[in-house]
Amino acid sequence: MKKSPAHRCRDIERQAGYLQPEHCAPPPTRPSSDAMWFIRDCCGIACGVITWCLVFYAEFVVLFVMLLPAKNLLYSLINGALFSTLAFLALASHARAMCTDPGAVPKGNATKEFIESLQLKPGQVVYKCPKCCSIKPDRAHHCSVCKRCIKKMDHHCPWVNNCVGEKNQKFFVLFTMYIALISLHALVMVAFHFIFCFESDWTKCSTFSPPATVILLIFLCFEGLLFLIFTSVMFGTQVHSICTDETGIEQLKKEERRWVKRTKWMNMRVVFGHPFSIAWLSPFATPDHGKADYYQYVV
Ligand SMILES: [Zn+2]
Ligand SMILES: [Zn+2]
Repeated sequence: MKKSPAHRCRDIERQAGYLQPEHCAPPPTRPSSDAMWFIRDCCGIACGVITWCLVFYAEFVVLFVMLLPAKNLLYSLINGALFSTLAFLALASHARAMCTDPGAVPKGNATKEFIESLQLKPGQVVYKCPKCCSIKPDRAHHCSVCKRCIKKMDHHCPWVNNCVGEKNQKFFVLFTMYIALISLHALVMVAFHFIFCFESDWTKCSTFSPPATVILLIFLCFEGLLFLIFTSVMFGTQVHSICTDETGIEQLKKEERRWVKRTKWMNMRVVFGHPFSIAWLSPFATPDHGKADYYQYVV
């Protein structure tokens, strides 16, 4: 079988005897699943804080510049409740995407005992990551920011300060979707605000001075447009990669397909959970990923 370039640069282990455990750091004494997952990367933390600040800014402008001074109470109540709910869901999705283990392979599990426990048959090989000393399951990739091998790694996103992988892809997709929705909603409200306020007296339309109102609204427009384009493209790309069951890295590297082909609907259920329900839209519902790990490759 022809090997892809990705295969050649990985350490192949066929027998436990080839391992050099002294090169690997001992595995952590405490299982990593007990501790909260958080990547200590300054750039990622800054991007995450900026994301939250931008959502709070939009919430402030929508509520205090546009809706509170509006004369129609029903219009303000419905739009205020809708925007705040979507913004809350966007931030909750962001927090879940950031603080959920994306599917990290246990660090330093490339031990003699572990390889022996896999009971390799002739023709089966396992791959060792030389950077984090772990046995890589199929479709796992090493992330240099997280310093771990991540199962079904799609990409490392600084905006959520985490990798997007097998276990947090749902939260990332929801985050892009809710940000796209609040951006669109904010743009529609700004358009209505300009239409109504151009006809009436500006001083009655906002509690802020006219120049301040215009600057705040223009910045919101700019932010909304930028995020609407960025997140809707990201959302589309993610849904496409889920449906075709091919991660961003696999598409980039044009990796040979070694995994079973499923229907698009089945692929969606693998990421969002079985069966289809309203929980698909909830950042609080964790989908069940209780599947066997495939550490072995047949060559
Ligand atoms: Zn690794
Ligand atoms: Zn990462």
